Amino acid sequence: MKYIFVTGGVVSSLGKGLAAASLGTLLERCGLRVTLQKFDPYLNVDPGTMSPYQHGEVYVLNDGAETDLDLGHYERFVDCRLSRLNNLTSGQVFESVLHKERRGDYLGKTVQYIPHVTDEIKKRLYDVTEANDVDVIITEIGGTVGDMEGHIFLEALRQFALEAGRGNVCFIHVTLLPYIKAAGEQKTKPTQQSVARLREIGIQPDIIICRTERDVSEEERRKIAMFCNVEPKNVIAFRDVKNTIYEGPLDLNRDKIDRIVCKRLGLAVPPPDLDDWLSFVDHVVNPEHAVRVAVVGKYISLQDAYKSIYESFTHAGAAHDCRVEIVRVDAQSIEEDGADAHLRGMDGILVPGGFGDRGIEGKILAAQYARERRIPFLGICLGMQIAVIEFARHILALESANSTEFDPETPFPVICLQEEQKHLKTMGGNMRLGACEAEIKPGTLCGKLYGRVIVSERHRHRYEFNPEYRARMEKAGMVISALSREQGLVEVIELPSHPFFIACQYHPEFQSRPNHPHPLFSGLVEAAMAQKAL
Ligand code: GLN
Repeated sequence: MKYIFVTGGVVSSLGKGLAAASLGTLLERCGLRVTLQKFDPYLNVDPGTMSPYQHGEVYVLNDGAETDLDLGHYERFVDCRLSRLNNLTSGQVFESVLHKERRGDYLGKTVQYIPHVTDEIKKRLYDVTEANDVDVIITEIGGTVGDMEGHIFLEALRQFALEAGRGNVCFIHVTLLPYIKAAGEQKTKPTQQSVARLREIGIQPDIIICRTERDVSEEERRKIAMFCNVEPKNVIAFRDVKNTIYEGPLDLNRDKIDRIVCKRLGLAVPPPDLDDWLSFVDHVVNPEHAVRVAVVGKYISLQDAYKSIYESFTHAGAAHDCRVEIVRVDAQSIEEDGADAHLRGMDGILVPGGFGDRGIEGKILAAQYARERRIPFLGICLGMQIAVIEFARHILALESANSTEFDPETPFPVICLQEEQKHLKTMGGNMRLGACEAEIKPGTLCGKLYGRVIVSERHRHRYEFNPEYRARMEKAGMVISALSREQGLVEVIELPSHPFFIACQYHPEFQSRPNHPHPLFSGLVEAAMAQKAL
């Protein structure tokens, strides 16, 4: 097994995750089996309890793990299926160490950062090795070298490199080369200093990836190489992607990073075959068609809150040779100005998932607008619950219909808690989480889109379609097009009287991939193109 560790220096938001994922793409296309994991030094056990304002999207895995959004990049850039082992936080490390201490596992010893905490971190590396039949594991360390909270992870990696054999380990440090306009120069000093901090801990990076707006000149490479103690060819330029993040692997490939990594790790493999990736990127960058789709949400100002949804549109658009221009609409502004002011002229409307009651009425207005104006609509999770509430209010004339999440006293609880959720007192990790199978009714729009009867999709929610209202809704024209296989819960609804109105309780965005768009997104883009042509 070969290990690649990716650390970051100088500033956060460097695109370390993208660099790690892009390297994964290249190595996979050299014929290697690759998996990725992330170590996050914060104290939350997982990001599931964090606000999107703190953390961006929570990415959900098949096994129900609520993880960092970088794991979304990993699954999109590399053909791997990740599990809860692939995201380790300080919170998990300490939870486990303290649990062992209380149980008496340490046999009277003083429990210490070294070796007990570092052992716990290394254990995860060994566990991931055991659980994955792969050739290479890429581990990204969250945060910036020099942060106090990340120090213990780096110490664990230093120890691990000795145990695994230095020939099996490659350290990559991602840094920033800031361009100082007044001097007309790109500065290498922050890179030198952050590598110096890494070396203080006992880690000598093998490769330096320099995030840069421009390029890295030969002279700059030589300078960085000398001060950071690496060969000049091991200084890699990672330019700001111009059009799409999917250019990341192509950019890293210019400096032949895969050759350097494979040589370092003694892997004899051919250069990467990037044909399908190139053609995907070409479709993303130069599409023939264009549509405008509104995403009506609560965290619209945040770039990262609906990350996987935006990526899913990129995948679905590329498959249809179509640019999907996403118009981010704040649900509350619809409450203030009315739906028409924000949604007129849209070729499609998507209402994504969410929690809490802010913006709910605006989302309901958006669903009503889509239904009445016959604009293609996709509702996801909360978006499906919204569509059900809207239908109950305006078609069944149950005016105060609601979800008990937003109005516990509603006389018409069309969305409500499942029995087993009612008694929970804590918040972390106890929603309906992860993949489960749904059975699709043949002949429905959903059935046509998937072309299959059994599908497996990922969930993250507490509330459900209330079965007591099912018959009335169906009588009024709603089709329940998929039910969960085990519990018979409503998974997908649609309106056959509408050109494209479909909503699902699960999160299709977590399983969309470049060159494998998700059928529901693909369907929405196709319907939006048809709508535009009207
Ligand atoms: N808040 C809703 C629930 O818990 C929807 C969750 C979501 O959209 N992810 O059921």
